Amino acid sequence: MIPFEDIICDQYYADGPVEVLVIGAGLSGLQLAKDLSKRNVPNVWVFEAGPNLGFQHIYWEHSDIYAQKLWQLQIEDPCFHRPWLTHTPPHYAGTSGLRRRLGGRSLYWHGAIIRLEPWVLDPSWWPESIVRDLTIGMNESPPLYELQEFEVSSHQITSGTKILVELIQSIGYTHAQSVPLAVRSQHLPDGDIRWAAYSPLDFWHKASPQLETVSDSKLPRIACNMEIVSILADRGKVKGVRARNMLSGNIVDINSPCIVLAAGTIENTRLALDVLWSGSHIERPMLSGLTDHLVTGCMYQIQLDHLPPEWLSSQMPSFAIIPGTETSRFNLFVSITLLDIVDRTILVDIWTMGEQFPQRENVVYLDPTQQKPSQAHVHVSLSRLDHEMIEHQQQALRYFSTELLQALGPSLSVMNQVQYVSPLGTVDHEGGTLPFGTIIRTTGEFIDIQGLYAIGPCTFPRMGAANPSLTTLALAKRTAYLL
Ligand SMILES: Cc1cc2nc3c(=O)[nH]c(=O)nc-3n(C[C@H](O)[C@H](O)[C@H](O)COP(=O)(O)OP(=O)(O)OC[C@H]3O[C@@H](n4cnc5c(N)ncnc54)[C@H](O)[C@@H]3O)c2cc1C
Repeated sequence: MIPFEDIICDQYYADGPVEVLVIGAGLSGLQLAKDLSKRNVPNVWVFEAGPNLGFQHIYWEHSDIYAQKLWQLQIEDPCFHRPWLTHTPPHYAGTSGLRRRLGGRSLYWHGAIIRLEPWVLDPSWWPESIVRDLTIGMNESPPLYELQEFEVSSHQITSGTKILVELIQSIGYTHAQSVPLAVRSQHLPDGDIRWAAYSPLDFWHKASPQLETVSDSKLPRIACNMEIVSILADRGKVKGVRARNMLSGNIVDINSPCIVLAAGTIENTRLALDVLWSGSHIERPMLSGLTDHLVTGCMYQIQLDHLPPEWLSSQMPSFAIIPGTETSRFNLFVSITLLDIVDRTILVDIWTMGEQFPQRENVVYLDPTQQKPSQAHVHVSLSRLDHEMIEHQQQALRYFSTELLQALGPSLSVMNQVQYVSPLGTVDHEGGTLPFGTIIRTTGEFIDIQGLYAIGPCTFPRMGAANPSLTTLALAKRTAYLL
């Protein structure tokens, strides 16, 4: 058995061939490495720019309030890192950024796992073979969506959520349901509840019995503190990567015939632009189609004389969704969090999450006059369609909020109310710049660079209204079958 420190290392050490080199130990990269090891692919290395700060999800390690601070007030989080320059703030500014550490955003996300809607998985947008693998099955195995849901779901619907769903249904929203979650929770001795969303990083956990079932050479190794600065390719074929050791500052070249970009949408795009431009595969170093979800919401701090006991006893938010339609293209979410038991105050957060269509004007680009290593520049705006969507979302919010507050009862007093529209990039669902079928093949391999692959929301031809991560994980699994 290899010592654990040699499986998750503080830096890369050359130790034989690197058959598959994955860039980024976040949600997509770790899922891919996990599935490659299940398929017995040897000599897989994952390179992560950030340090190893442990395996725990922020909501497991910290109290709810502190964990929320970590991602909403990014200054509080030493791992917050925005490697791009935005030319159109507040979009892709503020809280928009990566979490540079082993695990990436898989240690921050909320675990909402929703399939892309059938009206999104339309052959005019998504290649048929991918839709088939996700929804019908691949190589006579069950649909990837089903496999992935089975792997990540451990969540029991809480009684608070049941009450919330019934309440919403009673005011006419009969399609309301609980949000499917990849979340586990535990009661602490003091009565608090801590929870964690699924992270593929758990697979590597020291105590994990899974490690013992995988033979040594099949265990993917992870090298932390190794930032990939560029991809090396020659005559349309990938050769390796150039990496900066963040501990020593040294630059090293590492050879590999198969490289997978899993560094988040904008970093993936930067690395792709750099290698495509250097090899004269593109006319200018710019890729379009950058999208994020359009989110508008309203938060109410409410005091109620008679709170249902289910909302008083638990600190896991109660969480419901009213799914949208092909016409509305947005989902409506409601979460209820207990603020103060003594004062009987709760926070009701109601928000809509809608699809932003890819558009040519929303771009990631490099400045060819700038010295290497290249930096990504982001330039985006809201289109007429986006503004229309936001208006519809706000109407729906107003109507729904009035109905819900009435249904909560006459003893309600609203103590505080905040409306918001999230700037692009701050929803953390950025994607769409390296879509299947145009710049990459349906296998995920770049059309112009043999041996170079991309995974993550950057590959989505169209985002739909659903949160992206279930699809991200299922597609990482698919790539593991194909490599
Ligand atoms: C608070 C929060 C809540 C969320 N909730 C949900 C949810 O409920 N449902 C949902 O579907 N999605 C949710 N998301 C979104 C989801 O987390 C992201 O879509 C997902 O993590 C993207 O996966 P990724 O692998 O592309 O990127 P990441 O998970 O960010 O991983 C990228 C990794 O690559 C590393 N990296 C970057 N550049 C380099 C480089 N040059 N060299 C080496 N390593 C590099 C980074 O440090 C990082 O570890 C949430 C996100 C946040 C922040």
